[in-house]
Amino acid sequence: MKLPPFDYACPTTLPEAIELLASHDGDAKAIAGGQSLVPMLAFRLAQPTLLVDLRKLADLRGIRISDQGVTLGAMVRWRDIEDDDRLKTAHPLLKAAIAHVAHYQIRNRGTVGGSIAHADPAAEMPGIAMTCDAEIAVVGKSGAHVIQAADFFQGALTTALAPDEIIVEIRLPALGIPGIRPPPRRFRDGRSRGVLRPGRARQGAQCPCRGHRRRRSAAAADRG
Ligand SMILES: Cc1cc2nc3c(=O)[nH]c(=O)nc-3n(C[C@H](O)[C@H](O)[C@H](O)COP(=O)(O)OP(=O)(O)OC[C@H]3O[C@@H](n4cnc5c(N)ncnc54)[C@H](O)[C@@H]3O)c2cc1C
Repeated sequence: MKLPPFDYACPTTLPEAIELLASHDGDAKAIAGGQSLVPMLAFRLAQPTLLVDLRKLADLRGIRISDQGVTLGAMVRWRDIEDDDRLKTAHPLLKAAIAHVAHYQIRNRGTVGGSIAHADPAAEMPGIAMTCDAEIAVVGKSGAHVIQAADFFQGALTTALAPDEIIVEIRLPALGIPGIRPPPRRFRDGRSRGVLRPGRARQGAQCPCRGHRRRRSAAAADRG
């Protein structure tokens, strides 16, 4: 299906992009990789009068790793994560999960910020953000602020982002590496093992549920 008509702008600075988004009474939309927005336009689920392309905003790119954790620029693509070997140890969950996003062509264009802003509950990145208590840094007309993932996602395809706000980066805290914790005792019925729940695993710990495995082996030995 053909896209509806819209104006297009490709600003080179963040203030310019914010100004453009704010200038259309909520009818302008940012576009990053276009992998979710373009289908939405095609199906007339979104009909912005202006698309503000973020691809020339260099400030939104780059992956930073520090003692505090991993910071992903909003325009970091899935492919950038795949290609960054540091993340194998800095954030194994992110590295492993992103390999499951769609196929190569989509991973080559889709961005972290686009996925967070789109807030598809079936997508990998919102799940990682919630699991790891991510902080989402945004900038808009009223200035910069940080939103906790739990406050950012308000429902399927619904977020706390204002129409003139742009996600700048997503911060995944160190030691926010999630643990695969054993489910509560009453659910240990063999059908609900390996539930991914927000948790804190020690950095470098192999598997936080080793105790669980030991208990299971002991129970199996008891059964003979
Ligand atoms: C066939 C197909 C299969 C897919 N499979 C998967 C999958 O298995 N797992 C998965 O997680 N995803 C999947 N996706 C989605 C894909 O990962 C996209 O990368 C993701 O939705 C983000 O899209 P984008 O960067 O292209 O953002 P866009 O499509 O450009 O934008 C999406 C939304 O985010 C807003 N936006 C974008 N960037 C910003 C920003 N910095 N600040 C504020 N708002 C912003 C836009 O205005 C728009 O509302 C799939 C997509 C397709 C087409």
